[in-house]
Parts: sequence; structure tokens; C-alpha cells
Amino acid sequence: MTFNDLHLLPELLTALHATGYERPTPIQQQAIPHVLDARDLLGVAQTGTGKTAAFTLPLLQRLHLSKPTNQPSGPRSVRALVLTPTRELAIQIGESFATYGQNLKLRHAVIFGGVSQHPQVEALRRGVDVLIATPGRLLDLISQGFIDLKRLEIFVLDEADRMLDMGFINDIRRILPLLPKQRQSLFFSATMPPTIQQLADSILRNPVQVAV
Ligand code: AMP
Repeated sequence: MTFNDLHLLPELLTALHATGYERPTPIQQQAIPHVLDARDLLGVAQTGTGKTAAFTLPLLQRLHLSKPTNQPSGPRSVRALVLTPTRELAIQIGESFATYGQNLKLRHAVIFGGVSQHPQVEALRRGVDVLIATPGRLLDLISQGFIDLKRLEIFVLDEADRMLDMGFINDIRRILPLLPKQRQSLFFSATMPPTIQQLADSILRNPVQVAV
């Protein structure tokens, strides 16, 4: 199978070609068609399998092809949220959006704790389509009124098992009610013990499950 077979936009295929990827990894082959189909997805995959591109590519394509809903005039509001446990992962995912989205006009920002919030707030003020965030800083900036998730279309929870190990379960439980019920959700975890399955069940609607 090639990336062409996955019906990705020419803008994405060109970016993938420039990146030097020749063919999709198994998680990409399995996940991308369902995400493009607007299905919820439970992906059981470790880091290193290509899971970041498995959600980033179809997410970019869906945002590019759909008009923002009820977009008011003024700065654009967040259309996709990627929650990830660590600053390093957040930065890596941001780099993936920059690389794969190089030929599209979608904007992303990365927010995480332990650094000044000022540049992050400035990026949010300019407007972002995709927000990549660690849970604590996200809640912090939401409570200060800098982030509006009412028009969110796609929610990604990355490395769910690590989120729980790191004690982020309460933060996640506070974030979930702030998301619109009508949305697409993608949930990734390397392992699926019962507590993670319960969390997945509370987030996903009729998901497709893929495992590599
Ligand atoms: P991830 O599992 O998302 O952390 O990705 C692991 C590594 O694989 C990253 O360095 C990606 O740049 C790389 N990668 C992702 N997809 C592909 C692909 N289809 N072909 C070659 N390398 C890839």
C-alpha cells in the first residue's frame, strides 16, 4: 500500500514526499481511512509505530476540507485539540503538524507548563486551528479565558496510559465536560488495562479499534 491509496490530499502527499516517507506504517494504513470517514477511533499503538502521523494526516485533511462551524468574526477558535502527557511529546506533535501541514493554511500552537505562558497566549490570540496541549497548562489557560473549545470538531487523546501513570486523570475528567458532545474523538494508548478501557468508553462513540 502507498500513501496515494489512502486518498490523501495532494498537499499532504507532497509534504510526505518531501519528508522522505515511502509507504504508510501499519497503524497509518489501518487508522487513516477511518479517521477520514469521521469515525471515532481507539488505537492501541506504541510510540515509534508512526501513530502521530496516523492522526495528524487525516486530521489536517478533515480540517482543510470542512468549513469551520459557526465561526464568528475575529480570531479563529480551536477546531482540533490534541492532549498529550509531556512537553517533549507536545513539541514533537507540533513539529509533525508543521511538517505534514506545510502546504496547508491551518495554524497550530503548542502549549505546556513549566515555561512562561505569555508567548503561548500571544499565539492563541492570533488564532489557532489545532491546539496541542498538556493537561495542566490547558486547564490553566482555559480558566483564564484564553481558550474557547465550544467549536471543537476533533479531540485526540494521545498516550492515555501514560497520562494516567502521570496522574493526569483528574485533569482529563475536568477537560472532557468542556468539549462539545458532537465531535470526533481519537484515543491512543500503548496498553489497554481496564481503567484505560473505561476512560476510552467515556470518550468514544461507536469507535473503530485498530491495534498494531
Ligand atoms: P511516532 O510513532 O509517531 O512517534 O513516529 C515514529 C517515527 O517514525 C517518527 O520519527 C516519524 O517521523 C517516523 N515515521 C512516521 N511515519 C512514517 C512512515 N510512513 N515512513 C517512515 N517513517 C515514518
